[in-house]
Amino acid sequence: MSKINHHLTDEMLLSYSAGSLAEAFSLVVATHVSMCDECRARLDAFDAVGGSVLNDCGEAVVGADSLDATLARITAGEDRLPARKTKADAVFPAPLAEYVDGDLDAVKWTRVGGGVRQAILPTSKGATVRLLHIPAGTAVPDHGHNGAEMTLVLKGAFRDEFDRFGPGDVEVANEDLHHTPVAEEGEDCICLAATDAPLRFNAILPRIAQRFVRI
Ligand code: ZN
Ligand code: ZN
Repeated sequence: MSKINHHLTDEMLLSYSAGSLAEAFSLVVATHVSMCDECRARLDAFDAVGGSVLNDCGEAVVGADSLDATLARITAGEDRLPARKTKADAVFPAPLAEYVDGDLDAVKWTRVGGGVRQAILPTSKGATVRLLHIPAGTAVPDHGHNGAEMTLVLKGAFRDEFDRFGPGDVEVANEDLHHTPVAEEGEDCICLAATDAPLRFNAILPRIAQRFVRI
């Protein structure tokens, strides 16, 4: 895979580690993490620190060196999980393949206009996650940002007015971001996109998105 340029924020990884992200966003995070060594290492660090904080809530007197020991363990990478393996020609990383119960050919698409197809995946309420199939050279129809949107590229690439997003890249958008994503010529673009329902994550995601796009 080519280099991943657009990553998850620390806030996003922390929320995921704490189990406080809606299922739709969790699926995007888990899928990106399975594609990205850098975010997997950061998530492992948050998981280790979170675990040690929980342990510290007990009666045990914590030695002054416990944080150092935790950080040393993180640095040594001993808690790091190996990347999950999927078939060599699979488009979907393992967390998504488990969700869909198969690869691209298992997806039941519906047309949304302009040649673009989508498949909404079943999740708990609070947020929605869908697969998007955008033909090469095609613009995504106006979908409006009714809150936060997190888009992970699985195959192909798209560009908008601001940047290019290739396989593994994540774009975080909110209602303040007006953009027209267009799939690059040469290859259809397959994305996994999570959007939140009104009220959910309104406090946290716009802040993250602002940091992400530096507005
Ligand atoms: Zn990453
Ligand atoms: Zn968008």
